[in-house]
Amino acid sequence: MSYPLDDTHDPKLKSWVESANDPATDFPVQNLPFCVADRAEEPGETDPRICVAIGDQLLDLLEVSSAGLLGADDGDIAMALQFETLDDLASLPTDDRRRLRMRLVELLTDKSDDLRSDEELVGVALFPRAGAELLLPFEVRDYTDFYASVYHATNVGSMFRPDNPILPNYKWLPVGYHGRASSIVISGSPVRRPMGQLLPGATIEDGPPAFGPCKLMDYELEVGFYVGRGNELGRSIPIDKAEEHIFGLCLVNDWSARDIQKWEYQPLGPFLAKSFATSVSPFVVPLEALTPYRCRAMERSSDDPRPLPHLTGDMDRETGGIDLKLEVLLASAEMRKKGIDPIRLSSGNLKDMYWTIAQMLTHHSSNGCNMRPGDLLASGTVSGPKRESRGCLLELTWDGDPFANPPVSKPGSARTPLKLPTGEERKFLADGDEVILRGYCERDGFRRVGFGECRGVVLPAGD
Ligand code: MN
Repeated sequence: MSYPLDDTHDPKLKSWVESANDPATDFPVQNLPFCVADRAEEPGETDPRICVAIGDQLLDLLEVSSAGLLGADDGDIAMALQFETLDDLASLPTDDRRRLRMRLVELLTDKSDDLRSDEELVGVALFPRAGAELLLPFEVRDYTDFYASVYHATNVGSMFRPDNPILPNYKWLPVGYHGRASSIVISGSPVRRPMGQLLPGATIEDGPPAFGPCKLMDYELEVGFYVGRGNELGRSIPIDKAEEHIFGLCLVNDWSARDIQKWEYQPLGPFLAKSFATSVSPFVVPLEALTPYRCRAMERSSDDPRPLPHLTGDMDRETGGIDLKLEVLLASAEMRKKGIDPIRLSSGNLKDMYWTIAQMLTHHSSNGCNMRPGDLLASGTVSGPKRESRGCLLELTWDGDPFANPPVSKPGSARTPLKLPTGEERKFLADGDEVILRGYCERDGFRRVGFGECRGVVLPAGD
């Protein structure tokens, strides 16, 4: 593992920012996720600042750095903090990133009085998270989406190929496709229902497609990870170094138009069914913060092939996984109007993924493809073995059982709608629905760290 346990994970650390000591906060001093907040005061202006979240506050790192509190020998860090995104900061060597993290923990605890005692600086650098305008943390130039949950792949495969849900390549390589970076939006941005070609029936035999609003709109609960330092074109990232190239993790909603997808995806894979929008959470939890929650990579069945050496190497199976609990919540427009809290649709865990984040990154670069700072790689829908751990509506409302032997599911098998507290029912998303993703890690003897939320409301098609 590239990021060992150190003093920054000490559960006894307390911050003088009192809200960070609340056991329920996502953002104790042991977390310190990065984000970019627009601090412009005049309308029409922008002033993006790199910040870390601490309790219910954000700490503006440019202000802290400009005051000389990050150390005179940290020119590279000071330079990186002047940019409007995390791209430069993420590409610094892991030692620099680690030193910054340790220094921020000092400044926010009683290990140092340098920040706390400077009331004027605190007044400028520390500001409430509520009401802050959070921006995309990276200038994402490339986005790749994987398919790393064998449960998700088995469920979806069972709908379309009941006798052969998992294709032969699945257990040899992390299947993925190139997504669209231009339509990545920050949490809170509304997402318009896409238009597309839809078949009127199950197959072309039932009639030709027509162009119209997507009827089967879905979310996908995913975890994203941003590339830190990249690799040169023509070189690959060895599996044992992969995590040094990963800056941090976030929540991703890979919105999906299932009817568009079903018609367009063969033979080259997802295209317009996915590229209309992808939502990301504003906070990037550094991989360093997740060390206490590392766990065994998913156990493969003894019948499964061992991955090839370039995807295993000396990789530590003991800590290849991440015990990251994930939830999807939904609030319809009517629920919000009546003041009804969002309801939880499902919960899953990143540790149930068949492929690790290191394997995904190494596979991606294994042909010499150059990864660049800020590239976003997403895990694919995080689904687990139980119905309540299915990470999208396509699976969640589907009545099939992919693990029945022999498979009993048929394409188009029945769906049981979800019932909302208003009496409304959903097989797929309706206009006005708000989807909320949450994630957090907890382990005995350590502080809980959270990822915040990734939200989006579905707008009607058209304008
Ligand atoms: Mn996806």
